[in-house]
Amino acid sequence: MNSNVLIQKIEFIKGVGPQKASLLNSEIGIYNLYDLLQYFPFRYEDRSVVEKLSNVTESSIEGVYMVQVLNKKVTRKFKAKNLKVKVKDNTGYAELVWLKGVDWIEDKIVVGKKYLIFGKPKIYKKNISFVHPETNEHTKTTLGIRPVYPTTEKLKRGFVNNRFFNKIIDEVLVKTIPHITENLSKKIIKESGLISRAEALRNIHVPKNNKMILEAKKRLKFEELFFLQLQILQLKKSRLKAFPGYVFKNNSFLNNFYKNHMPFDLTNAQKRVIKECYENMCSKKQMNRLIQGDVGSGKTIVAFLCMLFPVESGAQVAFMAPTEVLAEQHFKSVLGLAKKLNLSVELLTGSTKPKERDILLNNLLIGKTNILIGTHALIEERVRFKKLGLVVIDEQHKFGVAQRAKLWSKKEEYYPHVLVMTATPIPRTLALTLYGDLDVSVIDELPKGRKEIITSHRNDNSRLKVLNFIKQTVESGSQVYIVYPLIEESAKKDHKDLMDGYESLTRYFPDTQIGVLHGRMKAENKDYEMKRFVEAKTKILVSTTVVEVGVDVPNASVIIIESAERFGLSQLHQLRGRVGRGKKQSYCILMTKYDISKESKERIKAMVETSDGFKIANTDLKLRGPGNMMGTKQSGLLELRFTNLAEDYESIKKTRKTAINLIEEDPELSSKENIEIKNYLKNNIKSNINWSRIS
Ligand code: ADP
Ligand code: MG
Repeated sequence: MNSNVLIQKIEFIKGVGPQKASLLNSEIGIYNLYDLLQYFPFRYEDRSVVEKLSNVTESSIEGVYMVQVLNKKVTRKFKAKNLKVKVKDNTGYAELVWLKGVDWIEDKIVVGKKYLIFGKPKIYKKNISFVHPETNEHTKTTLGIRPVYPTTEKLKRGFVNNRFFNKIIDEVLVKTIPHITENLSKKIIKESGLISRAEALRNIHVPKNNKMILEAKKRLKFEELFFLQLQILQLKKSRLKAFPGYVFKNNSFLNNFYKNHMPFDLTNAQKRVIKECYENMCSKKQMNRLIQGDVGSGKTIVAFLCMLFPVESGAQVAFMAPTEVLAEQHFKSVLGLAKKLNLSVELLTGSTKPKERDILLNNLLIGKTNILIGTHALIEERVRFKKLGLVVIDEQHKFGVAQRAKLWSKKEEYYPHVLVMTATPIPRTLALTLYGDLDVSVIDELPKGRKEIITSHRNDNSRLKVLNFIKQTVESGSQVYIVYPLIEESAKKDHKDLMDGYESLTRYFPDTQIGVLHGRMKAENKDYEMKRFVEAKTKILVSTTVVEVGVDVPNASVIIIESAERFGLSQLHQLRGRVGRGKKQSYCILMTKYDISKESKERIKAMVETSDGFKIANTDLKLRGPGNMMGTKQSGLLELRFTNLAEDYESIKKTRKTAINLIEEDPELSSKENIEIKNYLKNNIKSNINWSRIS
């Protein structure tokens, strides 16, 4: 911004005294005229049409009516005074009612005179009434579309209310609009069918008509997404420039394994993702790729096949899992595959004995070890590779950013390639925005022959039936998970619920081995319990969400989730993924109390209706908003005012395309026609994404 007018203090506007100014400063961060111009209405009242009283129905919303006063009457009940005014228009009759400010209003209402009123009509036994309508005598009720601005209680108490914003906005617009410069090129404006920036800003506040509201929103949404995409693309470019990667192009290990040792046919999605990773690893650019695949989509084998590239070229692989149980599981499955090619695989966890560890670390350092699998222990200082070529991180959301950064700093001449695997599907809108600088590969297909998990919703009335079902399941040789919520604030009670549940089960099933697993147990005890379940020594596992991540017990075919209404949708989906991993028909039973909130109902409904992780993720995004989605916990991370991340996939895709084309044509934005874009990007765009979040 180069205009001094735009950065003038808001006190320059009539009606903004020092007190209101200081409220605007402290409450909503508005200091200058440009800030005010950027403070947008959140809805509009359509006062452009005069409604007819004969059209009023029970569902009528607020509107404008032109009425003539027939008579008025003040009634008194104890101290309270009421004013009732009979009015008519050409089509019918109504009554206007005031219960407050009666003396003041009464003077202004003259029998026989016509008034423009605005309000929400009520209809009772065919009688229409308006309580406290606005009239053109005491507020400026004029025909047209009126913006409604967001305010807070504190602002309202200081009279910084909607009426205040409506009063000052005309003057703000008169002063600022002439100084608003364009920030898009003529070409982009034309191609994308946009109105000018000045026109958009004027119409978002004081729209000429309904069509112009849409045009203004379209333009501002485009800007919002376009500059976001430009930032993302620039970031991606600078990352690629800054981080050259090892080039691994030999694929005879892969071919050999594929021809001779594959335990099953890969799905097409798996093949495609392996190809994407392979191309990335021979491109000279460091790979920073997220592999998304729903639970059970077969990410492990994909990771393993990707490991063969670096290994064949003499580089090593680190494969990190969030828990010891998972690390051991990966170790077993990778070892089974890797021995076909005579590769050396090692496991390093917190419980590796010091003596073994020393040998292991030495083998690693001299390059004897090809693949090292483990937990957080992998990022300890003493773990040194001869040449680390690829880091695979399983179930990414359990790892903190700081830990990942540490892994990275083990670089030698190059950074290792990084593959992050997650079972939490990212809605495609987020994939293009929040994760837009990461490369994303999606395994969007399950292996053939998987049976869909049958999900049902039950309440306490059916508890006996559910217990019977558990009994049958165990008798048939399968295992059962029973999961209880554990949320910080009510941890004590939750813990008691879990232990009560465990005890009543042991009473109900005296001859069955039942395990219990919760966060208050020591790590080694947790691992012990988990192992017993993995080895089918216990048939029922009662636990908190500690079982949530990745464990693979194909023999478990039923999961019961207690107080399911208290879990988030993604979490429910993750938990459900613990079953359905074997050949048996699997079941997920969501237990809730009888009365649950509307939102809980929607989550449960989504779970019962679909097992498609992407559909679940989209519903989750709609219900919770992007601020709460995976990896975006630090809310306010991505603040979009015109874009709805749950719905605007097409707009996001289009603006991204426009941004990509622009960068291709004019990478430095140095041509004259793009100068406005460059300036705007430089001067106005504060990075609104917390990039440090991304690996
Ligand atoms: P996730 O993506 O949840 O990590 P896993 O890699 O644990 O899934 O795979 C789940 C199960 O499916 C494993 O037992 C694995 O061997 C099997 N699997 C993976 N890919 C295929 C395939 N293409 N065909 C048949 N089974 C497969
Ligand atoms: Mg997995």
